[in-house]
Amino acid sequence: MTENFDVIIIGGGAAGLMCAITAGQRGRRVLLIEHANRVGKKILMSGGGRCNFTNLGVTPGNYLSANPHFCKSALARYKPADFIAMVERHGIAYHEKELGQMFCDDSSKQIVSMLLDECAAANVRIETSCTITRVKSGDGGFRIETALGTFAAAALVVASGGLSIPSMGASGFGYELARQFGHHVLPTRAGLVPLTLSGKHHERLQDLSGVALTVESQCNGETFRAGLLITHRGVSGPAILQISSYWNPGDDLRLNLLPDGDALARLREQQAERPLAELKNVLADILPRRLALRFCEIWLTSKPMRQYRDNELQQIASQLENWPLVASGTEGYRTAEVTLGGVDTEELSSSSMQSRLVAGLYFIGEVVDVTGHLGGYNFQWAWASGHAAGSAI
Ligand SMILES: Cc1cc2nc3c(=O)[nH]c(=O)nc-3n(C[C@H](O)[C@H](O)[C@H](O)COP(=O)(O)OP(=O)(O)OC[C@H]3O[C@@H](n4cnc5c(N)ncnc54)[C@H](O)[C@@H]3O)c2cc1C
Repeated sequence: MTENFDVIIIGGGAAGLMCAITAGQRGRRVLLIEHANRVGKKILMSGGGRCNFTNLGVTPGNYLSANPHFCKSALARYKPADFIAMVERHGIAYHEKELGQMFCDDSSKQIVSMLLDECAAANVRIETSCTITRVKSGDGGFRIETALGTFAAAALVVASGGLSIPSMGASGFGYELARQFGHHVLPTRAGLVPLTLSGKHHERLQDLSGVALTVESQCNGETFRAGLLITHRGVSGPAILQISSYWNPGDDLRLNLLPDGDALARLREQQAERPLAELKNVLADILPRRLALRFCEIWLTSKPMRQYRDNELQQIASQLENWPLVASGTEGYRTAEVTLGGVDTEELSSSSMQSRLVAGLYFIGEVVDVTGHLGGYNFQWAWASGHAAGSAI
C-alpha cells in the first residue's frame, strides 16, 4: 500500500525542518523522512551546544558558490529577524556573542524542540530511522520506497545535507539523487575545517599545541581576522576555519601574526625604549611566549634590539605580518563543519529552489552549492532556502 502526501522531504536537518514547517503551515500534507534515529543532530552539536542559529550581518558576500548571486533571493525573503522572531515566540533566551553571531543562552536542544513543536502544530509527519531504498518519478510525482513502506507525493524536497561529520548521519545521498535526475553536482570538499601540517612544518610547531593568538589569515584575496589555535595535527581556530574554505592544497596562505597595528612601528618603538632587550624577549611580550621563542629559534636571529639596522627590522616586521603557512591538507569531512560544492545552482530556481530539469523536485540547504562563512551563516542559508521551497510547494 502506498501512502500519499503533497510533499515528501528527505532529511530532518535545519533546512528540511524549516521547509516542513513552512509547507505544513500552508496546509500541505507533509512527510519528513530522516534516516538517523532523531532529527536535528547537527543543530544539537552546533555552536558548542548553544547553536549559533543566525547572524545579524548576513549578506550574500558571506557565501561561497559558483554563482554568488543565487543565494540572494532566498536570503532577502527570510531574514535573520524572521528566525529570531520564532525563537522569541518560543521564549528561548538568546544573545549576540560577537560579530552579529546569535546563540542560545542555554542549549541548542531548545532550537530542535522549537522546530519539532512547529512541525507538530503544522501537522507534519516525521519518520525517523527510516531508510530509503529507492526513489522513482512518474505519473506527475515521486514514489519513495523505504524500510517503513512506500510513500508518494507530487513534490520531493532533498534536504539531506553534505558530507561533513559522517558519524552524525551525513551521506552522499542527495548528490546521488541529484545525478539520478540528471543534475550536475559540482566537486565537493571539506570547508570550515582545521588544516594539517606535515614534515618540518609540523615538527616545528607540534609541541606548541594549545598556543592561541589573534591573527589575520589571507588566501586567494580573502582575509579573516580571528583566533588561531595550534593543534597537535596542525592549526585550527576561527581564522583558519574561515580561510580553509578558500584554500586548496598548494595555494599560498599567509598569516599576519600582529594584526593590531603596524609591526615595524612597534619594533622601532621597542628598539628606542629597550635597546638592550633581545628580540626574542621583545616578541615574547607581543606574541605568546612559546611561539615568539620558536620564531627566533627557527626563522629570526635574536640579538639585542640596538644591534638591528632599520632594514633588518623592516624584514622582521614583514616576516611577522606575512608569515607563509605551509599546510599539507585539511582534517577532512571527519571534523569539517560544512561541505563546499554540491548541486549546481545553474539548474535550480533561486526563488523556489525547484529543479529546472524535473518538475516538483527541490534541493535545499547544504546539499546545494551554497556554503556560508563561520558564524551562523550556514543555518541562515538552511532556514532561508527551506523557507523558499516550503513557500513554493
Ligand atoms: C560540529 C558542527 C557545528 C556547526 N555549528 C554551526 C553553527 O553554530 N552555526 C551555523 O550556522 N552552522 C553550523 N554548522 C553547519 C550547519 O550545521 C549546517 O550547515 C546545517 O546543518 C545544514 O543544514 P541541512 O539541513 O542542509 O543539513 P543537515 O543539518 O546536515 O541535515 C541533513 C539531514 O539529512 C539526513 N540524511 C542524510 N542522508 C539521508 C538519507 N539518505 N535519508 C534520510 N535522511 C538523510 C541527515 O541525517 C541529517 O539529519 C555546524 C556544523 C557542524 C558539523
